[in-house]
Amino acid sequence: MKKISYRLSGWWVVAIAILLSITQCTESNGLDDQMTPGSEKNESGIQGSELTEAEIDGIRFMREEEKVARDVYIYLYEIHPLRPFLNISKSEQAHMDAIKYLIDAFDIEDPVGENPEGVFQNEELQELYDALIEKGSTSREEALRVAALIEEVDIIDLRTELDSIASNEDVIRVYTNLCKASEAHLRAFTGVLALYGVEYAPVKLSQEEFDRIMAD
Ligand code: MN
Ligand code: MN
Repeated sequence: MKKISYRLSGWWVVAIAILLSITQCTESNGLDDQMTPGSEKNESGIQGSELTEAEIDGIRFMREEEKVARDVYIYLYEIHPLRPFLNISKSEQAHMDAIKYLIDAFDIEDPVGENPEGVFQNEELQELYDALIEKGSTSREEALRVAALIEEVDIIDLRTELDSIASNEDVIRVYTNLCKASEAHLRAFTGVLALYGVEYAPVKLSQEEFDRIMAD
């Protein structure tokens, strides 16, 4: 009997370790923080390894996804002047800037360019923006729910990049920081909802992942 329970607990340690590697804002391929010996740096000082096509596509997508967050919060703040919309829209601007740094460093075509608020090159993100501002306009509670949903989507998309696409350490560093910020934003928006007596249930994340983020 003892042997069986020992094996079971050992299995659980492995299962939990795998679960954590999937659900946290860190990449799971064991890349360490050290500089790669002999790697070259370009003019911007960034690590000069080549990016894969998937990595480049991901950077372009995330640049506009951060813009969706910023633009929706700016729009909703005009209708429902709640402080978190203003403060977090500024944080999203910083996230856009962080990805712009990668875009410039790796000489990628910027999908944002001079596009004004509410305008996106990616059709999927344009449709998402249009749907979210319409939904968020209906009430203060809906606006906060929309904001929490944006953060859920952002966390999932950043984790997907980190888990299966990003391999360049500068890209990984930016995504990891953005993902941690999104978790903090999710706590902030659900916290405001709680002040209004609304218990937010995750729409995209699993309940387990959501609970872990809330407990952080
Ligand atoms: Mn963000
Ligand atoms: Mn955010």
